[in-house]
Amino acid sequence: MSRPTTSSSSVEDEQLRPTAAAAKAREPMNVLIVGVGGQGVIMVSKALASLAQSKGYQVKQSEVHGMAKRGGTVFSHVRFGPQVWSPTIPKGEADILVALEWAEGLRWLPFLKPDTGIFICDTKRIVPPFACLNRRPGAPMRYSRETPSEVKAHVAEGYAIDATRMAEELGNERAANVVLIGALSTALDFPAADWEKALSAFVPKKTIAVNIDAFRLGRSWIEEARIAPPDMQTPPAGAPAPAHLPYSVRLEITPQWCKSCDICVKLCPERCLRLNDERIVELAQPEKCTGCRLCELLCPDFAIRVHLDAVANVAAVAHGARA
Ligand code: SF4
Ligand code: SF4
Repeated sequence: MSRPTTSSSSVEDEQLRPTAAAAKAREPMNVLIVGVGGQGVIMVSKALASLAQSKGYQVKQSEVHGMAKRGGTVFSHVRFGPQVWSPTIPKGEADILVALEWAEGLRWLPFLKPDTGIFICDTKRIVPPFACLNRRPGAPMRYSRETPSEVKAHVAEGYAIDATRMAEELGNERAANVVLIGALSTALDFPAADWEKALSAFVPKKTIAVNIDAFRLGRSWIEEARIAPPDMQTPPAGAPAPAHLPYSVRLEITPQWCKSCDICVKLCPERCLRLNDERIVELAQPEKCTGCRLCELLCPDFAIRVHLDAVANVAAVAHGARA
């Protein structure tokens, strides 16, 4: 007597149980966006969530920006698909990690899917004040030393973009986040025109044109980078130093915004600022400035910006000025 087979129950099981492919099709797309306060992480997240929602996907978005106004970490999880149960992306489950700041990108790498995850990161470094423990000017700061090529070797697909410089060249440094949206758009299946419509709803009206340019620049940059990786070693003169290059500190003071409150003068750890005769702040002892950025973070009127210029470019600019 032959043994009963289980074929009929297997067929039923097959009908009841989703195939691996069908289950995968129902899995949400997980995009993690990270950076520091003021960089526009939430705008990137909202533009993506709104676009996905307009396409009929269920979308869940969560964000944390507790110390955002003081240069703290900001991150946002965006998940979309036919069905999304939880708003947070588990570790190792992000399909795409978009980082608006280099060290923040590295900090969140464990969230990326190890075999297929895409890493898109601005090489801009925003060094937190506590990284300046050694107060000698020019002393190394406690900041990530990994180079883009070292990081790329550890992710399935990685792009280190000098997005801040690209946005500066377009005339609006604040559009760096939109350069990254352009890069992100190449990894998702939404048409470029829909991206542009979505992001136009989230930027100030008078900056729509520059933001559309930034979006297209990021998109074309990454398409070209897939064919021929760009030379990151020689940023143009005047560009901020990418994370892997030595840098020199430069303060940009906007006198008309300074309200003479004296906060930065009193709290600069190196005592290298002062108010001049017009009671506008100035850098009195540049040789003492460590670039700790405390003055930038504490100024209530955004009158100070601390730039980290690539040392090679500083030399090139100085040489050009002498010639
Ligand atoms: S001037 Fe600003 S960046 Fe320079 S040491 Fe003082 S607080 Fe830090
Ligand atoms: S904190 Fe800002 S407003 Fe106050 S003195 Fe310094 S630069 Fe001027």
